[in-house]
Amino acid sequence: MELQSEVITTDIFINGEARPATGGGTYDIFNPARPSELVGKAASGTKEDVDEAVRAAHAAFPAWSGLSYAERAAMLRNVATELAADQADLTARSQLFTREHGKIAQETMIELSRIGERFEQAATFGEALDEDERIQGARFDTLVHRQPAGVAALVVPWNWPLAILGCKLPQALAAGNCVVVKPSANSALVPSLTLHRIAAMLPPGVVNIITGSASRIGDPLIGHLLVRKINFTGSVDVGRHVMKVAAQNITPLVLELGGNDAGIICQDAQLDDAAFERMYWAVFGSSGQICYAMKRMYVHESRYDEVVDGFLAKCDAAVVGDGLLAETNMGPLNNAKQLKVVTDMIAQARAQGADVRECGQVPDEELYNGGGYFQKPALVLNADPSLSVVREEQFGPALPIMKYKTDEEAIALANDSEFGLASSIWSEDTDRALGMARKIESGYTFFNDHGPRAQDGLGPFGGFKLSGIGRNMGRDGVLGFTEAHCISAPSGKLI
Ligand code: NAP
Ligand code: MG
Repeated sequence: MELQSEVITTDIFINGEARPATGGGTYDIFNPARPSELVGKAASGTKEDVDEAVRAAHAAFPAWSGLSYAERAAMLRNVATELAADQADLTARSQLFTREHGKIAQETMIELSRIGERFEQAATFGEALDEDERIQGARFDTLVHRQPAGVAALVVPWNWPLAILGCKLPQALAAGNCVVVKPSANSALVPSLTLHRIAAMLPPGVVNIITGSASRIGDPLIGHLLVRKINFTGSVDVGRHVMKVAAQNITPLVLELGGNDAGIICQDAQLDDAAFERMYWAVFGSSGQICYAMKRMYVHESRYDEVVDGFLAKCDAAVVGDGLLAETNMGPLNNAKQLKVVTDMIAQARAQGADVRECGQVPDEELYNGGGYFQKPALVLNADPSLSVVREEQFGPALPIMKYKTDEEAIALANDSEFGLASSIWSEDTDRALGMARKIESGYTFFNDHGPRAQDGLGPFGGFKLSGIGRNMGRDGVLGFTEAHCISAPSGKLI
C-alpha cells in the first residue's frame, strides 16, 4: 500500500461492502503539521447511510448473537492474529496516521498494534459468559443469563481513535452485539482503513462504519430506534447532548468524557531520571491530548524545587516537530480549535502574571512557525488555582504545577474538580499511597506513573462526576454490552 504521497479516499462500509456515501460526497483531511497538505478524503455519510447501516446490523444480529461466546471469542482472536500479520501494511498505515493526525510515529504504531491486544482480552472476558450465573434460593433456582443487547452505536473522538475503539468494539462484539461505528471527522482515514479490514473478517453486517459530519449523521445514529446501546467517548458538552437524545428511546449508554487528572508527588517519591521520563509521557504523551493525561501536578512543598528542576530539564529535551521523524517526541496538536484552547489558557496564565516556562527543542523553525498546530510544552509554576489551566481540561501541552503541605490537603486538591477520570500518587510507601488512593474521586489511580503507558486494559475504565457514566474494558466492559436476563423456576428445576 503506497500511502505516503497519494491522496487516499476512504469509503463507508455497510453489510460487508465498502462503498462511497450516498451522493458520493467526501470531505478533506489535512496534515496538522502542514495544514495546506491534503492527506485524504473521507466519505461524507448521510442519514440514509446511517439508517442502512443500523438496519444491516439489526439483520445480522440474530445469527451473530446466536453463536456461543466461545465461538465469537475464536473469531475475535482470529481478527487479532490477522491484524498483526501484515507488518508492511501496519507501517504504511502508521505513517498515514501520523500525517492525518499529527501524533508521533511511535504512538501511531502503538495505537495500531494495541487494538489487536484488546480483541484478545475481550475474547477472554467474553468466553467466560457462556456459563450462566446460578443462584439457588430457598424457593427458586435462578439462572442469570447474559444476553447480547442488539445494535450498538460506537462513537469515538479523534485523539486515540483506534485505541479507544479497542475499549469498546471488541467488547461489544464479544458480547454478541452488531455495531455501527462513527469515527471522528478529524481522524477518519486510518480508523476507516483499519475498521474495514476488521469488518471484512467478520460476517456481513456485524461491523458497519460511517464517517462524515456529526451534524448530519450523529443524531440519526444515536437516536435510531433500533440502537440498543450507545457507547460514546468525547467531550462533556457532546456527552450531555448524546444523553438527551438517548433519553427519547431510553437507550442505555456509556459516556467516557473529559478529565483534569491530578498527579500527587509525595515527599517520599523517588525522583530519578526514569521517574521524570514516566512523568513526561504521563503529561505530554500525544502532545497532552489524552483524556487521562496528568493535567494538574501537586508536589509536596519539600520536593517542589527538585521536581520543577528535574521536570523542566526533561521537558527541555522534548523535540517538537514532524511526527514522522524518529527524533520528534512531540507532534502538533490535531486541529486549530484544540490549539486555541491551549494557547488561550497559556495566554491567560501569562496575562495574570504566572511564571510560565515554555520548553523544548524545535529542529525545524520554519515548519514550527509555518501554520501547523504546534505548541511547545509549557509549565505554569505555582499556578493560581483559579486559572483555567488548573480548573479546566487543557487537552494539550500545558501543565500547572502547585505545592501542597499535607496528604489530606493533596487529596482535597485532587478532588476539587468537576472531573474524576484518573489520578496518580508518586510515593515509595505503598500503604500510604493506597490509603490516599482510596479517598480520591476518580475511576483509576496509578502509582508512580499515569496514563495509557501504565495501564494493561484488564480493569474497568471510566470516570466519576463529569468524566462520565459506566465503564469500558475489563469484564465490566463486556458485561456493559449485555442485558442480564434471569430465568427462574421453583427450586430443583434448574440447578
Ligand atoms: P467531541 O467533539 O465530543 O467528539 C467526540 C465524537 O462525537 C466525535 O466522533 C464527534 O464527531 C461525535 N459527535 C459530535 N456530535 C455528535 C452527535 N450529535 N451525535 C453523535 N456523535 C457526535 O470530542 P473530541 O473533541 O473529538 O475529543 C476530545 C474530548 O474527548 C476531550 O474532552 C477528551 O477528554 C475526551 N476523551 C475522553 C476519553 C475517555 O475515555 N474518557 C478518551 C478520549 C477523549 P465529529 O468529530 O465528526 O464532530
Ligand atoms: Mg487542567
